[in-house]
Amino acid sequence: MRCSCCQKELINSLTLQELFFSSSQRCYHCEQLFSKIDQAQVCPGCGRPNSTELCQDCCLWQQELGFVMRNFSLFSYNEGFRQWIETYKFMGDYRTRGAFVLELTEALQKYQEYLICPLPLSKERFEQRGFNQVRGCLDLTKRSYELLLKRSELAPQSEKSREERLQMKQPFELNVPIEKIRNQKVLLVDDVYTTGRTLFHGAELLYKSGAETVKSLTFAR
Ligand SMILES: [Zn+2]
Ligand SMILES: [Zn+2]
Repeated sequence: MRCSCCQKELINSLTLQELFFSSSQRCYHCEQLFSKIDQAQVCPGCGRPNSTELCQDCCLWQQELGFVMRNFSLFSYNEGFRQWIETYKFMGDYRTRGAFVLELTEALQKYQEYLICPLPLSKERFEQRGFNQVRGCLDLTKRSYELLLKRSELAPQSEKSREERLQMKQPFELNVPIEKIRNQKVLLVDDVYTTGRTLFHGAELLYKSGAETVKSLTFAR
């Protein structure tokens, strides 16, 4: 058995109990990288740790857009997570994509009736990186997902009127016929929740397209 993160062979000293009841398949070193967020102490909107009421950011989103994103984040964005994402996403070590496959699989089970939709990368990013980092992780969970969104190809700003430029802020368009979205529950998946801006863009478009509910899941927050 290998560490799902660094792929080093795990020492054979694991007890049967550890093998069957362990919540991860990471070696001791990699285990230290990830710190699970205590879900009893999060903002009910964005999943921010150490807050049990709707946080100020979520209140602002609600005022501006009329809805709150129900986001679930697995891990704290700490130094350990930063190291992992550096190795995986920026250095392109694709082998580390399974680092938290068990936690991710378990989390997705709470969204049985949802269409799972990873946020797309721009064509340029995809070509630079050679893979979509969210799909890389999802692929190992065996849960199927749908590419409901695609990034719009942006024309140079100078050719656009002010009105058009404002509209351009929405980076997504539907990648499927609108009937596929109508009355559906959708779970958007991204790697890190920072401001939430991108996820809200995705959710806005899906709601406009008739989605019943849109929630999100990110690997870290
Ligand atoms: Zn490891
Ligand atoms: Zn919040």
